[in-house]
Amino acid sequence: MSEPKDAAVRRAVSPVICYPNDTLPEVPLALYKAARAGAVKSSEVIVAPREAACFRVPAGHFFRISSVEGAQVGDLNLWNAHDLSERFYSGKTRALHGTHITTGERMWSSFPALRPMATIVDDTLGWYGMDEFGGSVHDVIGTRCDPYTGNLLSGAQYHHCCHSNLTRALADELGVPQSEAEPHVHDVLNVFMCTGFTRETGQYFMKTSPVRPGDYLEFFAEIDLLGALSACPGGDCSSEHTSDAAACYPLLVETFAPAEGALSGWVGPALNGYDRSHGR
Ligand SMILES: [Zn+2]
Repeated sequence: MSEPKDAAVRRAVSPVICYPNDTLPEVPLALYKAARAGAVKSSEVIVAPREAACFRVPAGHFFRISSVEGAQVGDLNLWNAHDLSERFYSGKTRALHGTHITTGERMWSSFPALRPMATIVDDTLGWYGMDEFGGSVHDVIGTRCDPYTGNLLSGAQYHHCCHSNLTRALADELGVPQSEAEPHVHDVLNVFMCTGFTRETGQYFMKTSPVRPGDYLEFFAEIDLLGALSACPGGDCSSEHTSDAAACYPLLVETFAPAEGALSGWVGPALNGYDRSHGR
């Protein structure tokens, strides 16, 4: 294909950040960290390999996802515990914060609420940054591994993709048929997963997660949350997913309750202020 004469000039134009995030509501990280320091453990759930489990976190409490036993990636869904139509919005979180999120950044909810659901308060993999391949950890660019894409690409019938694991766990938690639970499953935060896009072809890539047992990612719940975490069949995502080939390990989810009064002055995020008239 021939290029226009000014192709180089057009390519040389500097990019502009789509959503400058300096007007986002300020994150009271010092308050959260102080509250976390005095918090006590209130529950825990072990997510079995190639399975998912649900957990609930009241607003103002904390939850921690930990690697135990071996390197393992987790696929996280979050819902408003009182209204499942408000759920994590991976695409908008990516637009606001970038392809991967870490301490001080937030998981935002779907329209029309568009508010922070959870704020990352600690990340033991925060040191990783961006590697020479353009890879980083905890992405909001992947979707969730699912049996439909597996079937499309290879004709397989595989039942332990994160999509299916999350569907079964949510159906059990809500006491509803899988067909009712499945539409609530959504694109995830890929906890501990190391991913990026190739520079040459823009293709989504994964590489062995740098996570080690003892590493964790910790969140402050901004609203009452129902969460579901899948221990991905990709294991550390060094080679493949959508199969039982990879070594997989459990993940640990713990919740922590703040001390009485530790969050005095804190108010949870309001629903988005757009009037929803859409111009009519
Ligand atoms: Zn997965």
